[in-house]
Amino acid sequence: MTAAPDELRQLVAAASGSLVLPGGARRAEVDVPEPLRLLDSADLGSGRHVGVIEDADGGRWTVPLIVDGSGVRRALPGDGVAEALVRGIADVRRMHRDHVPASTVEGAALQGDRAFVADAWHAEDVAGERGITVDQTNESVVVGDAAMVKWAVHLPRAGVHGAQPARDRLAALAAARFAETPRPWGLLHWADHEHDATVLLASVTAYLDGAADGWDWAVADVDAATIPRTGSPDDTSRGLPPLQLGMDRALEGPKRVGALTARMHVALAATGVSYASAADVARWEAEATADLAEALRLVDGAEGERLRARADHIAAAYDAFRDHVGTPLVPVHGDYHVGQILRTPSADPTLRYDYAVTDFDGNPVSAPERRSDPQPAALDAVGMLASLDHVGRVVLRRTEGADPELVRTWIAAAQEAFRHEYVDTLARMRRTDLFDEGLAVPLRLAQEVREFRYAARHLPHWRYVPDGALRDLLPDV
Ligand code: ADP
Ligand code: MG
Repeated sequence: MTAAPDELRQLVAAASGSLVLPGGARRAEVDVPEPLRLLDSADLGSGRHVGVIEDADGGRWTVPLIVDGSGVRRALPGDGVAEALVRGIADVRRMHRDHVPASTVEGAALQGDRAFVADAWHAEDVAGERGITVDQTNESVVVGDAAMVKWAVHLPRAGVHGAQPARDRLAALAAARFAETPRPWGLLHWADHEHDATVLLASVTAYLDGAADGWDWAVADVDAATIPRTGSPDDTSRGLPPLQLGMDRALEGPKRVGALTARMHVALAATGVSYASAADVARWEAEATADLAEALRLVDGAEGERLRARADHIAAAYDAFRDHVGTPLVPVHGDYHVGQILRTPSADPTLRYDYAVTDFDGNPVSAPERRSDPQPAALDAVGMLASLDHVGRVVLRRTEGADPELVRTWIAAAQEAFRHEYVDTLARMRRTDLFDEGLAVPLRLAQEVREFRYAARHLPHWRYVPDGALRDLLPDV
């Protein structure tokens, strides 16, 4: 391990725990125990560093740092650490261009520092930084309106392996020439020699200008399809009544995402398929059952009553897991929902929009050491189906004047459109073997129960979403 400069190490040791936290709402909720210890740092020049810092509790953090006359602080968008990283990755790419013209450069030392290594796909000179404001788990910085640097803020603890699936997933997608994701430019890793681990510190992808994620675009589409209004000339020009046209348009997204999902799974599965053991299916059932018990304990009021009324049905549905020993497992996205699907206007006039999937960091609520495990493809399919339902619930709750009947019609039609395109595309690619639809019911119920648990713990107002979804999934209780 390259020794960090003493000065920087001392500055970090004297800093308060909040040094490691990005700004924003979450900052106040997290208490980072001191003293901090700088495990290692990459010097990007001009007082800019990327630090790997461990807190007194063993929590590990990636911290873009600025050292100036008065000390050390976490870099903000505008301080240029993300920009310097993009430059460093571009240098690596250029340096190796002659040797590996077509593919990625893997594991090359960043600026000669052998503890910090980059995978570099793309070199481009970009300048200028700004932060993004949407709710996020990690901290993302837009560089030159062209690149998106995502700092992996909270790192796995020492010796935990498999907590960061992104590198393998992106490599698998690139190898299969899957292009429906923002183009990867590069990844920065730290070699933790002491624990024989490679830790992902940051990823750089193309920034999609003007992209909306599904919590915006899908909600807007459903709003447009369900608020009664008089037709505009545009609407009537195709001879359709305005609402019907809106409904067709609001099903385009789910359809396109269904096909994209199938292509993503086929690409990921090209690295290999494994099969669930008896222990795997028993664990799925045990985890789902434990989540249900916790949700029952945490959710009170009318929602709690309705959940309790359905608990036996849900638990009985989990029995089905046992019938799926031998079900195929593939590297999945793992945190799959409409919020991970970015939509941009298409350059192709026949398409209107392009869709791209982001965020291959895996499921933030699953155990870190399991986050890279292969899973049933149905897990992603169900995640997307649930989120389409939830888009409808959000509209029902928030959009004044939306026709509830039409919203319910959209929920059912959107899920069917997604499912149909997904299965159809798998069939055309001759990979229907990847999707075991018999898992859809128990996985979907487990997902809604987890939403309940999450809402009870972190986001009380979200309870109406799994509440509404479970009432529709199990109406006769
Ligand atoms: P997190 O893990 O913090 O949720 P994401 O990778 O999902 O991070 O990104 C958070 C949000 O940032 C997305 O929902 C989207 O709005 C935006 N975003 C992510 N990647 C890009 C990109 N390449 N181009 C434009 N916007 C993006
Ligand atoms: Mg995300």
